Amino acid sequence: MSTKNKKVMVIGGGIAGLTAAWELSRFNIDVELIEKTPFLGGYAIRYCCKATDECRQCGACTVEAMLKNVVNEPKIRVHLATDVEKINNSGRLSVDLKKSSYKPDSATEGVIRGYSKNNSPLHVIVDKEKCEENPDAVPEGAVELDTMGFSGKLDVDAVILASGFKPFDAEQKGTYGYEKFPNVVTGMDLELIIRENATVVRPSDGKTAQKIAFIQCVGSRDESLGNLWCSQVCCPYALRMAERIKHKNADAEITVFYMDIQNVGKDYAGFYEKCKTEFRFVRNIPVDVFPMENDSLSMRYMNEEDGLCINEEFDLLVLSVGIMPGPDNSNLSDLFDVVLNEDGFFAGIDKLNSTSTLKDGIFLAGTVAGPKDIAASMAHAGQAASEVIKHLGVS
Ligand code: SF4
Repeated sequence: MSTKNKKVMVIGGGIAGLTAAWELSRFNIDVELIEKTPFLGGYAIRYCCKATDECRQCGACTVEAMLKNVVNEPKIRVHLATDVEKINNSGRLSVDLKKSSYKPDSATEGVIRGYSKNNSPLHVIVDKEKCEENPDAVPEGAVELDTMGFSGKLDVDAVILASGFKPFDAEQKGTYGYEKFPNVVTGMDLELIIRENATVVRPSDGKTAQKIAFIQCVGSRDESLGNLWCSQVCCPYALRMAERIKHKNADAEITVFYMDIQNVGKDYAGFYEKCKTEFRFVRNIPVDVFPMENDSLSMRYMNEEDGLCINEEFDLLVLSVGIMPGPDNSNLSDLFDVVLNEDGFFAGIDKLNSTSTLKDGIFLAGTVAGPKDIAASMAHAGQAASEVIKHLGVS
């Protein structure tokens, strides 16, 4: 069947949404890509490259490449700062869209910046008053958030939900002191530190952090929170990050506190063995963190061998926070009448087909259906695009 006039809506402009949109456009299908924030790329576009002397397959570069593909593809229409309001699926799917109510977490100068140079606009004004007070801080080409967003109805033949995940809120684990002690950061914070500095510096004083601890499973596999799933990505992510730190600063001392180390990719065995020679692995998750006078952190944990409590000082503590269901899952589940599983992620038909849903014409891509790294999200999105193509009867 011809793809002429076939149109698909992809909801979410992270790596899964970008990949699904791109794959569909290869089949000459028109795509309406809906993103509620003012920028494409989701969380994955913020990740730094973890290469040492060799590529570590972290996927960071593929996100930038995919984003560039999408913004240059005329078959894909991008609607930034836009949310879904209503859906009517009698016959063709008819989706009402509205300007999103997006608010950034912080915008000191009243302007926020996308993480990719391929974002257009690159700068967005979120606080006009602040910008009027200090017009020199407003970059050329900045666009007011108020002027962005699409309101109206679009008729499409299928929808792919790719609205992503949210990182675990580390403040919920109060004893680690996130947002209270400046040198307690999350993995995502560490990405930004590395993007902006040659070495890993402490937020409190800008000094190079020499003694660094990673705590794994923060927010995942945690009965007290009811989050029983393994987020799958935080072990490989932390080890790649630790390798990169060590590559830039051979004197760095890195300790990984863990329960189990999950498979870290196709060269898992060799990579993990190498990591064991470079870092200290402690099979214990510390519970308490105390601030020191010099802004360092004292951590209390149990020694595996003798069961005694140890207090040890670190310059920087990195919390490997897990992958949580996206904040929009519940609303999208209601709007599209697609069920969530008991953990709050979208449920596919079964394990063999986790991109199709019981709802005709509605498909899933990426972490909206459960934790995945960049490569797995892209593969899942490719599979979702294939299912859509089958659904449209395109060969
Ligand atoms: Fe814990 Fe590792 Fe699983 Fe993340 S990937 S939840 S750190 S075991």
